[in-house]
Amino acid sequence: MKYDVTVIGSGPGGYVAAIRCAQLGFKTALIEKYPTLGGTCLNVGCIPSKALLDSTEHYHNAQTTFGEHGINLTGLKANLARMIKRKGEVVAQTTQGIDYLMKKNKIEVLHGTGSFVDNHTLKVSGAEEITLTTDKVIIATGSKPASLPFITLDKKRVITSTEALELKEVPKHLIIIGGGVIGLELGSVYARLGAKVSVVEYMNSLIPTMDGMLGRELKKVLKKLNFEYFLKHKVTGVKATAKTVTVTAESHRGEAVEIKGDYCLVAVGRKPYTTGLGLEKAGVKMDEAGRIVVDDWLKTTADNIYAIGDVVRGAMLAHKAEEEGVFVAEVLAGQKPHIHYHLIPGVVYTWPEVASVGYTEEQLKEEGRAYTSGSFPYRALGRARASMDIDGQVKVLADKNTDEILGVHIIGARAADMIAAAVTAMEYRASAEDVARMSHAHPTYMEAVKEACLTASGNRAIHM
Ligand code: FAD
Ligand code: NAD
Repeated sequence: MKYDVTVIGSGPGGYVAAIRCAQLGFKTALIEKYPTLGGTCLNVGCIPSKALLDSTEHYHNAQTTFGEHGINLTGLKANLARMIKRKGEVVAQTTQGIDYLMKKNKIEVLHGTGSFVDNHTLKVSGAEEITLTTDKVIIATGSKPASLPFITLDKKRVITSTEALELKEVPKHLIIIGGGVIGLELGSVYARLGAKVSVVEYMNSLIPTMDGMLGRELKKVLKKLNFEYFLKHKVTGVKATAKTVTVTAESHRGEAVEIKGDYCLVAVGRKPYTTGLGLEKAGVKMDEAGRIVVDDWLKTTADNIYAIGDVVRGAMLAHKAEEEGVFVAEVLAGQKPHIHYHLIPGVVYTWPEVASVGYTEEQLKEEGRAYTSGSFPYRALGRARASMDIDGQVKVLADKNTDEILGVHIIGARAADMIAAAVTAMEYRASAEDVARMSHAHPTYMEAVKEACLTASGNRAIHM
């Protein structure tokens, strides 16, 4: 078998790269070692976590706000097994959608582990062993959960996100190591179902890489869900028995703490996955963090081999991997594509949602850049009062001299969808005044963005 392009890994990076290659006329193959396509994102990441977040959010609302809306329920009960079954159905529909897209685009799907024999020859070890030749290769093998050297992941009591999507019972007390995206999303799932959640985080805020306002606000709202926090704490040990887990940690002042629970979710980041690829046989180099080294065109240290998504530098996000998949296919076709990495948004699917794009206020301060800041609270929006979603705010950061929008940071209902408007405005290098002068439908959550822009561009918010 001979292909123009062979993609290794069928996550959002790999399957999107394969589709774009096929659209551009390349004879394309896609190698995936798991039986279903879609990678981490569709099987054990974005999609299943959002399915459980939605189910538990419905339950939480039924418990907490339905009465206020005049809807009285009796005998309300959460059925975790049913929620997990529905999650599985959503995953199955979504991964089958990728099978359909592969057929539609005439992409050859080869199931098995792909490895290099040399730069142009790949072995696929599955039910049978296949050898193929290829002109170009795109590596999209993604990432796996990271851990700490002293932790034994027994996958029963001490678990990663993958097991947390399949629990048979609601933990009584879930201890989460890492106050980042996975910890707070999956912590929300179980807190809404009644678990006490303790978050042990090394840094001094939750979601520490995002704008500081977001972490501070999220900390307050999740506290209402029975979250407790051990910020600026370094985990020193995790011990599990058949039914319990004990986590020990040390505060920045050197005080020791011991937290006892029944499950411990380790969510300290993810590491690039290259095991078994035989990169050395093709001259593909990795950096000290295990990422495949790529240049600005996402080309590896081997001339005909490219790499994209979680396995290379940058944010570990599905939409970043997708952009890179399209980018490499277009580079191979001789086009001149561009990715504006600075404007890739980040979203945390807690409730309220958190969404962010561009510079954080901390970055602007560090760079000594002159900026203005405009904020608007959700509680001042008619739309938010109508839906009882009054927690949150929008913050817009703009250049003090030119008024160009430099960053938009939202915590509040539907922030995940709203951030696309901020990305659009920033891609077109809009000023805060440009957005402030555009008509925003009333009543909507987006009015908070308009009001924040009014403040950033001249302190003239109307409704505050
Ligand atoms: P992956 O999706 O990891 O896919 C890599 C694929 O390569 C896998 O299928 C693997 O089996 C295959 N593979 C590896 N080695 C080989 C080999 N040698 N041969 C054949 N196949 C191989 N991101 C978001 O943007 N939004 C979210 O809401 C979100 N939620 C997440 C929730 C969780 C719980 C987790 C864990 C992650 C989440 N992410 C989210 C991150 C997102 O899943 C990743 O950024 C994304 O999947 C990366 O895509 P990728 O194509 O680089 O790799
Ligand atoms: P993360 O990087 O978001 O958070 C990890 C957290 O663990 C950080 O806050 C870090 O300071 C902390 N930490 C690290 N070592 C620690 C230690 N020894 N003790 C205490 N805390 C420690 O990583 P994650 O939450 O594991 O998620 C992994 C990746 O998956 C992320 O890159 C994320 O982008 C992606 N993801 C994205 C989404 C989304 O887009 N909604 C959802 C889930 C996962």
